Amino acid sequence: MSASMLDQALTRLDDAACHLKLDPDVLEKLKYPRETAKTRLLIRMDDGSRKSFMAWRCRYDDTRGPTKGGIRFHPDATADEVETLAFWMTFKCAVMNLPYGGGKGAVQVDPRKLSKAELERLSRAYMQAFSGIIGPDRDIPAPDVYTNAMIMGWMADEYASIVGRVSPAVITGKPIALGGSLGRDDATARGGFYLLRHLEQALGVGPGSRVAIQGFGNAGSHIARLLSEVGYKIVAVSDSRHGIHSDTGLSFERLVAAKQSAGLESLAGSDGIAAIAPDEIVGIDCDVLVPAALENLIHAGNAEAVKARVIVELANGPVTPEADELLNAKGIAVLPDILANAGGVTVSYFEWVQNRQGYYWTISEIHERLKASMEAEGRAIWDRAGAHEITLRSAAYVHALGRLAEAIEAHGTQQ
Ligand code: GLU
Repeated sequence: MSASMLDQALTRLDDAACHLKLDPDVLEKLKYPRETAKTRLLIRMDDGSRKSFMAWRCRYDDTRGPTKGGIRFHPDATADEVETLAFWMTFKCAVMNLPYGGGKGAVQVDPRKLSKAELERLSRAYMQAFSGIIGPDRDIPAPDVYTNAMIMGWMADEYASIVGRVSPAVITGKPIALGGSLGRDDATARGGFYLLRHLEQALGVGPGSRVAIQGFGNAGSHIARLLSEVGYKIVAVSDSRHGIHSDTGLSFERLVAAKQSAGLESLAGSDGIAAIAPDEIVGIDCDVLVPAALENLIHAGNAEAVKARVIVELANGPVTPEADELLNAKGIAVLPDILANAGGVTVSYFEWVQNRQGYYWTISEIHERLKASMEAEGRAIWDRAGAHEITLRSAAYVHALGRLAEAIEAHGTQQ
């Protein structure tokens, strides 16, 4: 039997543990998810029929605070994937020193096949099913792949009617009108952007460098905009179905217009723009490769093809552990997911703080605080990697594990 995704992810924990003197209790606690609830959501379709969808919510570890993490709607979602994503959230929140543990949820569904009314019923059913687990001091969901502010709004509304009071801090990534935070929409990309800009000199990239972006959803489209604005050249973009490539660069405005109408592929065939298969993006000649979609994009079978010098992981888990070794041997720097895409959960934390205070910050306050956090944690990880001659990923795990271990030990030994 092949190793589960969680087993693979846990190899990163073992690797980090080698660099710290740890109480064995720490690893025992972090090796398994604390609880994973699963249920079938039964919803009424518009044609009057009923359909059921598998759904999960995992609270991986809550040593450092309530569990935090998104809800994904995806046809390939599994319990193993949810637990792995919740494990990564545990480390991501610790990397950023947020007072949270890690959680994640998913529904096995292709939301593109549902009407808006069906999607709303599914979102409300999810909150009904898991409202005993979820709560502002217990487990706080957020958007993830194929979920968005509208869905978070429905879920917040459902939670309010279940508990009989408005409770905006139960979920983040909400519409601004329901207590969402300014700056949450592009926070994942913006965090990665601030990190890359902070490390530009050390990494040997900067304005003028060529960028390939895999995935053109929330993270991918915003990073394309932010990097274009400062003069990086977007040479290739793909989504789940198509890819396009141009040596001379793709304009962000044209990309967005095409994505919203006839699809990215409609740009191919003119102005030196060529169609490519979505996976070909991995081997595109570029300086910076930005995986911004799903797990396991770069694996043992295609890591050798990577030409980029820097990989910015806006997706969770886009590089497998085997591929990590191959990339490292080639001297490619990987800005790891638990740091590079942590801008999303960091601004989620800002949203939760604002909801609890009932006092709302300006967009420049959000940007300044996000930038300061990305730079401080990024610099600490960069320095640790240099000092110990380890990869940035190992350094990020060591950085997080030190904080987790401290909290686990501080809780005492009687439970
Ligand atoms: N789904 C995002 C992530 O994977 C955001 C989680 C959050 O804001 O809680 O980091």
